[in-house]
Amino acid sequence: MHHKSITIALAGNPNSGKTTLFNNITGTRQKVGNWPGVTVEKKEGIVSKHGYDLKIVDLPGTYSLTPFSVEEIIARDYVLEECPDVLIDIIDASNLERSLYLATQLREIDCKVIFALNMADVARTRGLKIDAEKLSELLDLPVVFTIGNKNEGIDTLLQKAIELAESKSEISQKRRVKYSKDIESSIAKLQRSIEKKIAGILPYNTRWTAIKLLEDDRIVKERVVQKAGDNGQDIIQEIQELRKKLIDRFDEEPEIVMTDERYGFIAGIIKEVLTTSTKNRIDISRNIDLVLTHRFIGFPIFIFFIWAMFQLTFSLGAYPMEWIDIGVGGISALFESFLPDSLLKDLLINGIIAGVGSVIIFLPNILILFFCIALFEDTGYMSRAAFLMDKIMHLIGLHGKSFIPMLMGFGCSVPAVIATRTLESEKDRILTILITPFMSCSAKLPVYIILVGTFFSAKAGTVLFTIYIFGIIAAFVSGRLFRSTLLKGADAPFVMELPPYRAPMLKSLLIHMWDRGKMFLKKMGGIILIGSVVIWALSAFPRNIQYSVDYAAEIAGVNALYETKIKASAKASAKASDRSGMQSIQEERDAAIKKIKLAQDAEKMEKSFMGSIGKKLAPLFAPLGIDWRGGVALVTGFVAKEIVVSTMGILYAVEEEEADALQKAIISSGMTPLSALSMMIFVLLYLPCFATIAAIKRETGSFKWMFFSIAYTTSFAWVVAFSVYQGGKLIGFN
Ligand code: GDP
Ligand code: MG
Repeated sequence: MHHKSITIALAGNPNSGKTTLFNNITGTRQKVGNWPGVTVEKKEGIVSKHGYDLKIVDLPGTYSLTPFSVEEIIARDYVLEECPDVLIDIIDASNLERSLYLATQLREIDCKVIFALNMADVARTRGLKIDAEKLSELLDLPVVFTIGNKNEGIDTLLQKAIELAESKSEISQKRRVKYSKDIESSIAKLQRSIEKKIAGILPYNTRWTAIKLLEDDRIVKERVVQKAGDNGQDIIQEIQELRKKLIDRFDEEPEIVMTDERYGFIAGIIKEVLTTSTKNRIDISRNIDLVLTHRFIGFPIFIFFIWAMFQLTFSLGAYPMEWIDIGVGGISALFESFLPDSLLKDLLINGIIAGVGSVIIFLPNILILFFCIALFEDTGYMSRAAFLMDKIMHLIGLHGKSFIPMLMGFGCSVPAVIATRTLESEKDRILTILITPFMSCSAKLPVYIILVGTFFSAKAGTVLFTIYIFGIIAAFVSGRLFRSTLLKGADAPFVMELPPYRAPMLKSLLIHMWDRGKMFLKKMGGIILIGSVVIWALSAFPRNIQYSVDYAAEIAGVNALYETKIKASAKASAKASDRSGMQSIQEERDAAIKKIKLAQDAEKMEKSFMGSIGKKLAPLFAPLGIDWRGGVALVTGFVAKEIVVSTMGILYAVEEEEADALQKAIISSGMTPLSALSMMIFVLLYLPCFATIAAIKRETGSFKWMFFSIAYTTSFAWVVAFSVYQGGKLIGFN
C-alpha cells in the first residue's frame, strides 16, 4: 500500500524535548547519520500513521534563526531550503518566553508551523498556566500540549500536524511581529528592490530576506552576492544606506532594535496567555514563612496550632460523641427489652455492641483530628512543622519528617504507623514506628480521666499534661537507645522541601479525612469485633458459677419488701391524688435490685476465666501497686485502650457511666494516688493495642519488629511503673 508522504521537522531550543518526542514517534525506525559536511548528528525516521507516511526529522537545537553555531546554521538552512511540509516547534512550556523567541522567527518564514507545548507537567508544577487557545489565536497556528517523557499528547500533535500539512489555507501574514514604523518602512523598501532586482534568486520569501539583510545576516548577504552579481551589489549598497539611517534614528544596530521589538511582541503574548500563580505564590509563601518558620516565634505558633487542634478535636468532638453514646445505649436497650434472656443476647449486648460501641464513639474525634492534619498538609504547613521540629528530632537521629507520624500518634497510633510511609529510609521508618506508640493516643485519655479525677482532682490539668510529656520523653529516650544499638546509622541527608502555601480545597480535605477515617473504621472495626467477642467469652464463661450469695433470693426479697411499700403508698396517694411518692418508691426498689445485680456481675467476673487469668497475673502487677482487677483491665486493654475503663466498670461493680460511683469504688478497693499514678504510666507505655500491632506488622513487613514492639513497650512500662511505685513508697508518697 502506498501512502502519501509528509515531511515533519522538529525544531526547538536545546533541551526542549525534541529528541524525546522524536524517539516516541519513530520508535526503532530511526536512521542516524550526519548532516552533509559536518559532524552534527542527523536523525530521521519514517513511520506510517493515520494513513500517511511521516518522515520525521530531528533538527539540532537552536535559540533563533540568527545563526551563530554550526547546529543553528544547519537547522535554519534545513527549514528555509528543504521546506518541510510541517514544522513542529517544540516549546518548553515551563520557559515560554525564551522558547517564543525562536517561534516568532519561525513565524516569519513561509512554513507551516505547529506548536508543541512540551514539558506541560513541569509548567504545571511550577504553577504556570498557559492559555493554549489564546496562544493559538494570537499566532494563528495550532497548539498542542505534550509531555514528552510520558508520551502524552503526541498522537494529537501528529494528527494536527497532518491536518495542517493538508490544509490549503494561505500562511497567515497578519500574526507576525510588527516592527516599529521606520523599520517596517525600510523592510518594505528593501522588499520592493529585492522583487525588482533579484526576484526568485533566493529560496526565501522576500520579507524574511529583507529582514535578514537589514539585520546584516552574513550568510544571506553572501548568498545574495554570490547568486545575483551586479544586482546583488546594488542591493548590498541599498542595505548599507538603510542601515545607516536606522542607526542614526535609533542610535543602535537595527538587529538589536529588532530583537528588542521581538521581545516586546513576546512580552505582549505572555501577558495574554500566561498566568503565573507561582511567582506571586512563592513571594507570598516566603513572607508567610518569615513568620511561621521564624527562629523564635515560629515555635510558639506551632505549639498554638497543635493545642488548637487538640482543643477542637476534643471540644467539638464531644457533641457527636454524646450522640453516638446515646445511639449505642439506645440500640443496647432495644435489644435488652426485645430479646429473651440467652447466651446470644449476652454476646450481642455485652460483647459486640459494648465492644464496638466503645470504639466507634471515638470516630468523631478521629475524623476531626484527621481533618486538621489534612488541613496542615494541604496548606503546606505540615512541612513547616517538620522543618521546625528538625533540630529537635535530630537529637534522636531522626528528621523533622518523622515528627508528623508522632504527632498523629496523639490521635491514634494506627494511622500514625501508616503515616511513616512518607519516610525514605527504612531504618528511620522502623525507628519511628517503634516510638510512635509512646505518644499517648486518644483512647488512653478516658483511663487518665477516671484516675486523675479520682486521685488528683485538684491538679488534674498538670498531672494530665505531665503524663503526655512523659510519653514524649519515653519516645525520645527509646529513640536514642534504638539509634545507638539496633538501628545504627547516620540519618541520610536530605533537603526539606518547603512547597508554596496553598489555599486548601474543602473537597480534598474531606476526601483525605474520610480516607483515613475509613481505614480506622475498617481495621479497628474488624479487630475490635473479634477482640470484644473474645473478652466477652472469657468473662461470660464458665456459666455454672457457684455464687457465694443467693442473688436471686435477695432480689426476690427486695421485690417482696417493696411490694408492700408500694401497696401502702398506693392507698395514701389515691387520696392525695399524688403519684410521685409511689414513683420514688419504685425507683428506690430498682436501685436496690441493680446493686444486687452488679454485685452478682462482679462475683461472676471474679469467677470467670477472665477473673482467674487476672488472679494468676496478680503477682506480676502487685509490685506496681495494681490489684488483680486493675490487672485484668490492663489485659483487656490489649484489644483497645478504652476497654480498660469499661472492664474496670464491670470489675468494680459499677455502671461505667456513673463516674462518681466508679471513683468511690476504686478508692474503697484500696487504690492509692501512687498506685493510680503507676497504673496510668503503665497504660501510657505498655503494649500497643491490637489494631496498632497489626499495622506495625504490615508496615515493617516483619513479625520480628512486631514482637519486639510488644516486648519492648511492655517491659519498659513495667520497669518504669515499678520504679515510680516503689520509689514513691520509699520517699513516703502514697
Ligand atoms: P532536546 O535537546 O530538545 O533533544 O531534548 P531532549 O529530548 O534530549 O530532552 C531533554 C530532557 O528533557 C530529557 O531528560 C527528557 O527526558 C526531558 N523531557 C522531555 N520532555 C519532557 C516533558 O514533557 N516533561 C519533562 N518533565 N521532561 C521532559
Ligand atoms: Mg536532542
